[in-house]
Amino acid sequence: MSVLRITEYPERVLLEPSKPVEHFDAELEKLSVDMFDTMYKAEGVGLAAPQVGLALRLFVMDCEGIKLVAANPEIIGEEGEQTGDEGCLSIGKVYAPVTRAARVKLRAQGVHGEWFEREATALAARCFLHETDHLNGTLFIDHLTPLKRDMVKKRFVKIKKFR
Ligand SMILES: [Zn+2]
Repeated sequence: MSVLRITEYPERVLLEPSKPVEHFDAELEKLSVDMFDTMYKAEGVGLAAPQVGLALRLFVMDCEGIKLVAANPEIIGEEGEQTGDEGCLSIGKVYAPVTRAARVKLRAQGVHGEWFEREATALAARCFLHETDHLNGTLFIDHLTPLKRDMVKKRFVKIKKFR
């Protein structure tokens, strides 16, 4: 087991699109285990590869009973609307309300390359969207108004200073 360093905004790897996962090998399996360890230690419910410094289309999550590894994920369905507080392990867990779809369908590959589809609602649906966004270089603050985005950034800078 290894806990990896979590990258922080505005590190470049968080701001750029990631590359597809091509090799479903022992290395990917180990990376997934390490990402779960890192996520649990940080008390998160989802973690994307750019958050451990790798520009790979991969995330892990364990949220509201949905535990999975998603490689090359795509959002294939979105329905309804929900607004709720959202935070990110790479932005010091500063929270702000974000409006997202209420029901989301995800298509992705598991750690051995098998394709699967999964539906989620509530926080787990939010997690599908938040983590898939990471692989496109999009952060939850990009969904905020410029004013709110600045507030989150300022709060995050303050937290960093006192750490
Ligand atoms: Zn995040």
